[in-house]
Amino acid sequence: MLILTCPYCGLDAEETELHPGGEAHLKRVGPEGSDEEFEDYMFARKNAKGVHFERWRHAYGCGKWFLAARDTVTLQVYGTYRAQTHAPPQDIVDAIRKVRPDWQPDWSHAE
Ligand SMILES: [Zn+2]
Repeated sequence: MLILTCPYCGLDAEETELHPGGEAHLKRVGPEGSDEEFEDYMFARKNAKGVHFERWRHAYGCGKWFLAARDTVTLQVYGTYRAQTHAPPQDIVDAIRKVRPDWQPDWSHAE
């Protein structure tokens, strides 16, 4: 079972206490964006094999949204962090590189 630590209240929450919110770090497209950019923002998702960043809400706890970095192959959780960040904190990047030294962040359609 997936267990994530909520970065706000510090509780270890089981998956049934959480609500998934999809891919993290998506860059919102405003009215100045093209149709293709909006389509990419609205529908294109990475579905990564390996390191993946996701949005979760502590639905049956404090109710706040947070972000999690985990591995879709091994199911290892690298860490969780507050939703108001544009990139994962350095300690999570270090945890990922410890396991996957060749990992490079792919922010091609993210902020
Ligand atoms: Zn919480």
